[in-house]
Amino acid sequence: MPERVALYPGSFDPLTNGHLDILWRARRLADRVVVSILENDAKTPLFSLRDRIAMIQEIVGGDPAVDVRSFSGLLVDFAKSSHASLIVRGLRAISDYEYELQMALMNRRLSPEVETVFLMAKEEYSYVSSRLVKEVARLGGDLTGLVPEAVRGRLVALF
Ligand code: ADP
Repeated sequence: MPERVALYPGSFDPLTNGHLDILWRARRLADRVVVSILENDAKTPLFSLRDRIAMIQEIVGGDPAVDVRSFSGLLVDFAKSSHASLIVRGLRAISDYEYELQMALMNRRLSPEVETVFLMAKEEYSYVSSRLVKEVARLGGDLTGLVPEAVRGRLVALF
């Protein structure tokens, strides 16, 4: 049986406990999960690509079934070059759905052999987003339980 590889693409600016929850669920579906950080993000990220890779490595690096890589260009091309047959995305509220559906259908059109699967994180993370976490950090709020300690430390140091 060939190895089943899943990509988990996103900005991860920064990684939250919601992301981690989805990542552990994806691990159960695939032999290997590649956390795939989009390089040419139109949004100006808070953390550089290097910092994001380093942070995620620090958190998941001990797991031989998880890789952390960056990519630019089409996700389906990255899937092809990574021999991935699955794209994993997380769904929080219905508000995520419209954008995710469009993207999944476009990716299917571009590459019918790659399947997108949607996973739901624990309810307690349903309101957790990188954007909100950055906002709370900026305003000095407590991030315990929302992001891994390695991320919390960097956010506290930054603000
Ligand atoms: P993007 O900029 O591509 O949306 P993100 O880093 O914000 O990248 O998110 C990557 C993926 O993780 C997306 O599918 C997003 O919906 C999902 N995700 C982020 N936070 C959560 C969460 N708290 N619960 C479930 N899925 C989440």
